[in-house]
Amino acid sequence: MFKYWHFRDMLPYREWVDYPNIMLLTVRGCTQGCLLCGGSRGAYALNCQRQHVAMRSPAKLVEDVKFIQRFSRAPIFFIGDIRQGGGPYVHDLFDRLSRTRLCNDLVFELFQKADADFFARLHHAVPHYSLEITLESSNEGTRRPREWGRED
Ligand code: SF4
Repeated sequence: MFKYWHFRDMLPYREWVDYPNIMLLTVRGCTQGCLLCGGSRGAYALNCQRQHVAMRSPAKLVEDVKFIQRFSRAPIFFIGDIRQGGGPYVHDLFDRLSRTRLCNDLVFELFQKADADFFARLHHAVPHYSLEITLESSNEGTRRPREWGRED
């Protein structure tokens, strides 16, 4: 912004000033190995010696949601697929959200398809939600989930 003096060029999308969203980081690290990403599993292992993801606790995330709702009605975007934390983690988070008075839209990121049980729990826990499916590439091979340690 200081180089080009175009504030709007720095915005993530055109209507952001009127309709912002608030990012809530759910995790450090990533279980995926997208080739173009500096925050991938391999990049974290190489640069940060991080071998496993570290999930933010469901209690802390819900605490943040409550805090954000005190000053904003913007959508709250849960960055990182919450399923990286495993089934009990997702269950705990949805359970806590279902007991919370939610005023804002919540946005969840999915790395792959979700099953009917996930959607049933989500639908029960969150009255207003959106989903973002992270594809990042039009190449089917690049999008295919990779095994740990595979080189291709
Ligand atoms: S899922 Fe997202 S954060 Fe993880 S490696 Fe792929 S692009 Fe990066």
